[in-house]
Amino acid sequence: MPDILIGNGTIVTGGAHNQLIEHGAVLVQGNRIAAIGSDVALLQQYPGAHYIDAYSGLIMPGFLCTHTHFYSAFARGMAIPGEPPRNFPEILERLWWRLDKLLTLEDTRASANVCIADAIRCGVTCAVDHHASPNAIEGSLDAIADAVEEAGIRACLAYEVSDRDGLEVIEGGIRENERFIRSLRVERRQQAEAGMISASYGLHASFTLSPATLERCAAGAAGLGVGFHIHVAEDVSDESDSMTRYQKRVVERLEADQILGPRSIAAHCVHVNSGEIGRLAETHTNSVHNPRSNMNNAVGRAPVEEMLGAGVNVGLGNDGFSMNMMQEMKAAYLLHKLALGDPRAMPGDLVFDMAFHNNARIIDAIFRPFSAGFLPVGELSVGAAADIVLLDYLHPTPMSDGNFPWHLIFGMDGHLVNSTMVAGRWLMRNRQLLTVDEARIHARARELSQALWQRM
Ligand SMILES: [Zn+2]
Repeated sequence: MPDILIGNGTIVTGGAHNQLIEHGAVLVQGNRIAAIGSDVALLQQYPGAHYIDAYSGLIMPGFLCTHTHFYSAFARGMAIPGEPPRNFPEILERLWWRLDKLLTLEDTRASANVCIADAIRCGVTCAVDHHASPNAIEGSLDAIADAVEEAGIRACLAYEVSDRDGLEVIEGGIRENERFIRSLRVERRQQAEAGMISASYGLHASFTLSPATLERCAAGAAGLGVGFHIHVAEDVSDESDSMTRYQKRVVERLEADQILGPRSIAAHCVHVNSGEIGRLAETHTNSVHNPRSNMNNAVGRAPVEEMLGAGVNVGLGNDGFSMNMMQEMKAAYLLHKLALGDPRAMPGDLVFDMAFHNNARIIDAIFRPFSAGFLPVGELSVGAAADIVLLDYLHPTPMSDGNFPWHLIFGMDGHLVNSTMVAGRWLMRNRQLLTVDEARIHARARELSQALWQRM
């Protein structure tokens, strides 16, 4: 592969200290970034590199999403028969748990295809998925992994173990997680070592998991060197269930059952109290904020700034909404201000850090067990992964290191992404998807979703 020099743009470095480099260029060698600097200097230094003109736009690290559900694509526009659900348990029972029971392996694959094409369009280069298809469990993570591999993004996969559908489905979920995790060290070893695919041990949520199931999963995961990916206190009903049945808060229960830790993801954490925040920090457990989903389900406002202040690493996910992480960033920015009645809440630079730096820390923790040489993502720096997106953004006001997050939140959106590169490979150039046939994917998804809606 010849070296690629992406120049004539403003570089946004991301990372722990975001900086802008005007008239900058990035040299890509293989799957990594080999040099960053001024356009003129790098052009002189690397005259043989294939030059890509960013046309005065932005050269940014790829967007990251640390909690998503690729199986959710068929819900778009779907009507739920009867009265509208009144609360979160009803939304699960009447929408998601009916949809996921109807998914076949082919549906799972087609739904993932739709979400992954959307990810590439919106410049998302790595996604952390949480899958459920209780009547088509075996091979479901392979169906998703094949879609991921074909499209060329990075993804971490997990199957949501849950007690809600009986013993056979519990067994199936456990087997699927453990089988898939093992395959990353055998059949899929090359992709896993290259940092393209990873796995967590998936668990649905405390209120659908018995003590016996948690115990089995903890024992299984310990031998496989992975952490867990679980919904935590998304709705207040998860906390009341845990208090009623176990006389413990959700986080305390999960800690006692060895579910927490630096490789684990506690998605949502809307209703955790200060004691639980302390336990998340102490155990270095990651949390993921999903503001669009939380607003849509009317479950409440996650104490994100409190968690960050206590030292919890909080990333940003979409929980099955569109893969447009710029929309998620806008929602995060707005939600806390309204809910707290305080315009100082959740400043733009904090949102930016969650979306890039904190998400990158989560991704590093869950990919590294399978990829010892995992390259940094969420930043453009020498030695980082060549996961790069180009945006057509011309700033109408001064733009600096300090105010860049507010330019992103107030001035940018997914449609500005014109090119997406993962591991040095272009997945989209000038808005043309290069690895997937979007028209075919959407046509097939329309057929399969219509058939699924009819079965419902
Ligand atoms: Zn979720």
